[in-house]
Amino acid sequence: MQTRRVPLRMCTGCGEMKTKKELVRVVRSKEGEISLDLTGKKAGRGAYVCPSPDCLKKARKARRIERSFQCRIPEEVYDAMEDALQKYAAGIPQAERKEDAKN
Ligand SMILES: [Zn+2]
Repeated sequence: MQTRRVPLRMCTGCGEMKTKKELVRVVRSKEGEISLDLTGKKAGRGAYVCPSPDCLKKARKARRIERSFQCRIPEEVYDAMEDALQKYAAGIPQAERKEDAKN
């Protein structure tokens, strides 16, 4: 079996260290817009959370994403992210995740 060195990221919700593939990126764009990056293609600063609405809720409650980005996140942005994550968690499109390999 091949050993691959995979950099680990911390989930801002549960605090577990996981690979990027196991996490969903939350991105802050240059314009300061916060959104979920389900494709891994968005530019900007990133924070990571498990693909689980529960972890996003924890991160929201503890304001860890805001601390990471050093900015305020409006409630409706959190609501939209939770909604998107819920859908994402309901059916992760494995086939679309191969593009992660380009790193
Ligand atoms: Zn987590």
